[in-house]
Amino acid sequence: MMKADSYEKQCAHKVHTVNGIMPLFLCAFFFLFSPLPTFAVDRYVQKRQEMVEKDIEGRGVKDSAVLKAMRTVPRHLLVEKRLRDRAYADYPLPIGEGQTISQPYVVALMTETARLKATDRVLEIGTGSGYQAAVLAEIVKEVYTIEIRRTLADRAAKRLKKLGYKNITVKYADGYFGWKEHAPFDAIIISAAANHIPPHLIKQLKEGGRLILPLGSTVYYQMLTLATKKKGELEVRQLIPVRFVPMVGEMRKEH
Ligand code: SAH
Repeated sequence: MMKADSYEKQCAHKVHTVNGIMPLFLCAFFFLFSPLPTFAVDRYVQKRQEMVEKDIEGRGVKDSAVLKAMRTVPRHLLVEKRLRDRAYADYPLPIGEGQTISQPYVVALMTETARLKATDRVLEIGTGSGYQAAVLAEIVKEVYTIEIRRTLADRAAKRLKKLGYKNITVKYADGYFGWKEHAPFDAIIISAAANHIPPHLIKQLKEGGRLILPLGSTVYYQMLTLATKKKGELEVRQLIPVRFVPMVGEMRKEH
């Protein structure tokens, strides 16, 4: 997308500064034979708009900030090249190491459920591809995201940096323990299946803060759950059945 933009800018610049027909001809030539034609870019933009309309708005997500973020984040640039054409489809995709990028609707629903404000500071557990983090970063001030697999953490950090996200910090660690240095958080999103809520995360949630996670069996299905901290206690509401990859590390030990 960026390459195509800079081509257009370069061309516009040349047309203004050099007289004669030659620059115009060169621009037309580059436009037609560029290795990244504009229609390829448009194709993803269009696919993204269709995805939001059909799979996100169409299923009842209403928060305008969430819809705008879903229309903005280039999901196809957070998956492997060979999967780009399927990036806007209504299902999860493999991201390596046996892990998956969540289905767009589930990302939108979790984000809407977090009732975010522009000034919020959010923690995500399970960076994966970095997509959920990017969606959050379009809406809030600061996003902290933890990934337990080094390859995935490094890859996501690199891609998010390339996309220009300056308000996302990625850490390679076990998210079970949260991120004390940046706590308390207005919202915490766990992107991997948990059979209980890690006590550290409850502690690191602000009063009135929202914790969203797939809670249940880490092997089979979970219920997408919203836990709101009220007077130090959690008020719990179950949303829809979901299926996430398991949260590993400390979560797997007996507690
Ligand atoms: N939010 C991601 C999807 C993540 S899939 C996205 O938008 O692409 C779940 C991720 O959680 C996997 O990458 C997995 O490695 C990671 N994970 C599992 N257990 C974890 C833990 N204890 N701490 C941090 N990350 C964990």
